Amino acid sequence: MSHFSYQNGVLHAENTALDAIAAEFGTPTYVYSKAALLSNFSAYADACQGRDALVCYAMKANSNLAILDLLARQGAGFDIVSSGELLRVIAAGGDPGKVIFSGVGKSEEEMRLALSHDILCFNVESIPELHRLNQVAGAMGKQAPVSLRVNPNVDAKTHPYIATGLKANKFGVAFDDALDTYRTAAQLPHLRVVGIDCHIGSQLLDDAPLLEALDKLIDLIDMLAAEGITLHHLDIGGGIGIAYGEEGEDEPVAVQDYLGRLFKRIDAWRLARHNGAPIKVIFEPGRSIVGNIGVLLTRVEYIKPGEEKNFCVVDAAMNDLMRPALYQAWMDVQAVKQDNGAPLCYDVVGPICESGDWLARDRHLAVASGDLLAIMAAGAYGMTMASNYNTRGRPAEIIVDGEQCHLVRRRELPADLFALESTLK
Ligand SMILES: *Cc1c(COP(=O)(O)O)cnc(C)c1O
Repeated sequence: MSHFSYQNGVLHAENTALDAIAAEFGTPTYVYSKAALLSNFSAYADACQGRDALVCYAMKANSNLAILDLLARQGAGFDIVSSGELLRVIAAGGDPGKVIFSGVGKSEEEMRLALSHDILCFNVESIPELHRLNQVAGAMGKQAPVSLRVNPNVDAKTHPYIATGLKANKFGVAFDDALDTYRTAAQLPHLRVVGIDCHIGSQLLDDAPLLEALDKLIDLIDMLAAEGITLHHLDIGGGIGIAYGEEGEDEPVAVQDYLGRLFKRIDAWRLARHNGAPIKVIFEPGRSIVGNIGVLLTRVEYIKPGEEKNFCVVDAAMNDLMRPALYQAWMDVQAVKQDNGAPLCYDVVGPICESGDWLARDRHLAVASGDLLAIMAAGAYGMTMASNYNTRGRPAEIIVDGEQCHLVRRRELPADLFALESTLK
């Protein structure tokens, strides 16, 4: 069920009209549905019911404190990629004991902070990182829990910028080097080898590559067990895609179907080779938790007819929503007020001085200056990738709960943007 629907010709988030939100909070503004968030999380949590499993929300997709708080209350853990994200988890009341730390470039300072908060696991991506972590943990008198991010070399068949599981990618330890790397890790005194993980890419519509990656991890776990290195968890990463609404797009696999198939394979493996002893399973979903929970609400500034194209110039831009400019991502655009006028074909563009500043191309819209548009399914990698290019304050963020609206991040003002700067003394 979509939590965004037309009621009396006006697009609503749950039971709140988007034009009312624009009138109260201005534009551009990200609007999220609380019910959509909880329902997306439940798809994972319900499928994990009764199992030793942990859903670590990949918070780089949307790290607003209110989102983190709502998920933490549902029992979520968090997949972080920086110390800043760890501080956000703590500020939101999340449990550092359910945090896993991913990323190829962890600094010593980041390691120290994460160790001091006793996070669940470091997902280590290289041998030099193992040595650094061993040294930092030793100096603190601690043992760091580690998992190796293994690159299973499977083709996730997604956009090259968001495919991460191929040999040519910077991520993870090559599958063929994994055994040796584990042996190294097992010998380092200040590391405790606890798990294995992978993350093969994002916006995967089919779970076949994920199940293929699972099979490779399973083989490695068994090879390690034969050498006396016992792993306690298996982290399959995130990556499940969402529907963006483009004509002819493939439908994404349903989360419960994917988890059903995954657990079935894991159970069969444990039964066949480990006397049915369970292994903890960790997920790192980002987009599939928050992608479809939000829209970017924007107002039309000008309609600009061109020689080859008509432009619909809106007050949101590539700095507010990078996905189209960065990945040529297709995002659905809906008029907030349904209009029966004759549609024209437009490129929806922002005010920024770059030709890459577009949000949607070749869309049939019946719009006029002053109208509101909603860029749909903008909840993931929207606000978190926003910048201040052109000294534009980032959008406000609202969470709708039924008929209630909560401002969870106020709009940035120009003075906020240069508050950290100074002239020469
Ligand atoms: C980004 C990321 C995720 C989340 O990916 P989605 O496609 O948003 O589910 C999970 N794990 C790691 C290591 C990531 O970098």
